[in-house]
Amino acid sequence: MIKIDDNFFIGDGNFTVIAGPCAVESYEQTDKIGSFLNKLGVRILRGGAYKPRTNPDSFQGLGLDGLKILHEIGQKYGLKIISEIMDIRDIDKACSYVDIFQIGSRNMQNFSLLKEIGRTKKPIMLKRGMSATIKEWIMAAEYIKSSGNKDIILCERGIRTFEDYTRNTLDLMSVPIIKDLTEYPVFVDPSHGTGRRELILPATKASKALGADGIMVEIHPNPEDALSDGFQSLNFMEFENLFNVINDYSF
Ligand code: PEP
Ligand code: MN
Repeated sequence: MIKIDDNFFIGDGNFTVIAGPCAVESYEQTDKIGSFLNKLGVRILRGGAYKPRTNPDSFQGLGLDGLKILHEIGQKYGLKIISEIMDIRDIDKACSYVDIFQIGSRNMQNFSLLKEIGRTKKPIMLKRGMSATIKEWIMAAEYIKSSGNKDIILCERGIRTFEDYTRNTLDLMSVPIIKDLTEYPVFVDPSHGTGRRELILPATKASKALGADGIMVEIHPNPEDALSDGFQSLNFMEFENLFNVINDYSF
């Protein structure tokens, strides 16, 4: 169980929904999302400020300015902030703006980053490497732990297989396996895990049924205008529907 604040824990048996844009694009975009999530009762806002893009010419994120926007919106609407850090040099600065650090799929085995982030006192979400076995993923978490930080959340986000109908192959069996092998809370990212809007609801239901501690989903006020991952982002109406369905869904 991980303490987020005095009356908010992850891995306490409740299903936690984290939502937000793939990338922080502007104050206005983040403000719209923050206001919407607050009304709905979502408590953690995600948003990328440092984006690991395949193409160097694609939008790379707003960097430190993006973290400042997230922090301001978090304060305004009472939301906790999770954001990805890719570079050791950004860790200290980011500590003032984020509540949970995210290590992305592409950096799951960046051992120097893992060791350094493990020296902080904030919870860390470690996403599964797209080519990582479950054992390699757990060993990556051990690197963080060996630096002193045990507040680790593992996040299944799909792996590369020959199947290309979905962006990645969401390996949902990792949820009960991780539960069996470790004490860490497990999340599922159905957005990157499927890359298809219409699969996010069924993937979320399955995640909950398998005992996941929560999901992290990409949303955008206008997905068609998003600077990254618009094709897999839910609009507000779609997300509200997902949120209501999942809250009513019990096993
Ligand atoms: C993200 O969640 O913003 C992201 C880039 O995901 P992943 O590292 O899983 O590709
Ligand atoms: Mn994304």
